[in-house]
Amino acid sequence: MKHESGQFCDFLSWSRRGWCQCEEISRRLSHFTEMVVVVTGDKQAVLHDSQDYLSHSVGTLDFACCQMKHMKDGQSIPCDKVLVSEVIQGLMGRLVDEKSLQEEDIFHFRLVKSLSPSLLSDLPDVLPCASMGNADAFLSDFCFSRASILCVCAAQERPERPSYAAKAGDAGWGPLFWAALKQDLDVINELVRRGHDVDERSTEKAVGVLVDRGSTPLLVAAMLSGSGLSVRALLDLKADHSITNQSGLAPLGASCIGGHPKNTMVLLEWGADISASQDDMDGQALLMASSFSRTNVCRVLVESKADIDATNIWGATALHGASMAGDMVNLKYLLDHEADVDKQHVPRTTFAKVGYFAVNTLLAAGLQKQALQGIGHAHLGSSLLTAALHGQTHCVTELLLRRADLNVRNNNGKSAQELAELRSHMGTLDLLRTWHPPSPGTGPLLTEEEEPLMYTTFV
Ligand SMILES: [Zn+2]
Repeated sequence: MKHESGQFCDFLSWSRRGWCQCEEISRRLSHFTEMVVVVTGDKQAVLHDSQDYLSHSVGTLDFACCQMKHMKDGQSIPCDKVLVSEVIQGLMGRLVDEKSLQEEDIFHFRLVKSLSPSLLSDLPDVLPCASMGNADAFLSDFCFSRASILCVCAAQERPERPSYAAKAGDAGWGPLFWAALKQDLDVINELVRRGHDVDERSTEKAVGVLVDRGSTPLLVAAMLSGSGLSVRALLDLKADHSITNQSGLAPLGASCIGGHPKNTMVLLEWGADISASQDDMDGQALLMASSFSRTNVCRVLVESKADIDATNIWGATALHGASMAGDMVNLKYLLDHEADVDKQHVPRTTFAKVGYFAVNTLLAAGLQKQALQGIGHAHLGSSLLTAALHGQTHCVTELLLRRADLNVRNNNGKSAQELAELRSHMGTLDLLRTWHPPSPGTGPLLTEEEEPLMYTTFV
C-alpha cells in the first residue's frame, strides 16, 4: 500500500512506526491475547502473534515529528512522544491497578509492572519507580508473600532457598525472574545473596508470552529485557547460559526471538555457543533471528562468525527465513555476506524426510491447509520459491537481481511462477512472468540511487 507521502507501507513498516505501535500496545494492554490479522495476499491472511509491545520501547521507533526536527512550515511543533508517553503510562497504570485486585491474573500484573522501564525507555516524562534498588520493597510491590506451612515443609530439603507462595497462573516465575525483567540490578544481586537460585526453572508455560516451562531468569531476561544489563548481571552471578527450556530454547535463541542485540552480544561475549540448536528442529540462532526479522541481531551473529548457510533439519537457512518474512533489509544483508542464493531445502534427517513425504501426500490428496502447504512446497525449494509462495515481491526482485535460478523446481515439480499462482499473488506472478535477467557483464545489483522507491522504506 502506498502512503500519501509516496512511501510504500506494509506490515514491516507498520512495526517500525511509533504511532502504529502505540495503537498496537493500547490494543494489547487491553486484551493480551488478541492478535493482529495481517493480510498477506488477495486471498490470504495470517494471525500475527508478537510480544514486542512488552519490551520494545515505542520511543525508539519512527515519529514523523522527530524526522521533521519538530519544524513545520517554519513553525516549531511539539514532539508526539510527550503525548504517547502520557497515554501509555496512563494505560499501564490503570491496568496494574486493575490486575492488582485480581489474584488469578498475578502473572500479567507482574509482567506489565516489570517491563514498564523497558517499554517506557526513550519516552519523555516517565515517573521513576519508588521500589527501585530495595529488595523488600520490590517483593511487596510484586505481591510476593512468604510460603505457607505446606511450602515451607517442601522447602526444608533445601533450607537455604527462600520460597514464596505460589499463586494461580504465575508459571512458577520466582522473584528473580521479575527483578531481571525490571532490570533492577541491586535487587537481582540481593536476591541471589539471600539464597535464590540464579538458575531457577519455571514450572509452567507462560500465557501471553512465548516462553515455555523450564526457562531460567537468564532466558526470560534475554528474551524480554532489551538493554543487556540484566543478562550481564545474571551472568556475573554465574547463571548458566547453556540451559535450555522444554522447547529446546537457550538464552541466546531467546535474545534472537526477542530481538535484543545487546543481549545477544553479552551472551556471545560470555561464551554462549553460536552454533547450538535453539529448538527441537536443530535451528541455530541466526535462523531464529532471521525468521523473526531481527536484522540487528542477525548483524551481531554474522559479525560473530555464525555459519550463514546453516540449516535446520528441514534444510531451512536464514535466507529462506528472510524470504518468507519479506524482510528486505535482512535479505540484502545476508546476500551481501555471501549467503548461498540458490540453497535448497534438503532434509537432513529421516524424520524430516518422512515429514516432507507425509505432508506432500496429504497435499496431493487435496488437503487445503496453508501452513502444511508452506512446509510441503519447501521441500527442495530455494529462497526464490519461498518468496514466491509467500508473495514477497520485493524479495523475489532482489533474489532475481542476485541471479537466483529462475528455473529451479521444488520436490513437487513446482516453479516460482506456479507457487505464486497457487496463492494468487498476482503482483509476484506478473514480475516472474515478465522478468528479463540483467544482461551479462552488468553488475548483479542496482546502485543505491537506481533502486526503486519500494526498497527505500525498509532501510
Ligand atoms: Zn518528535
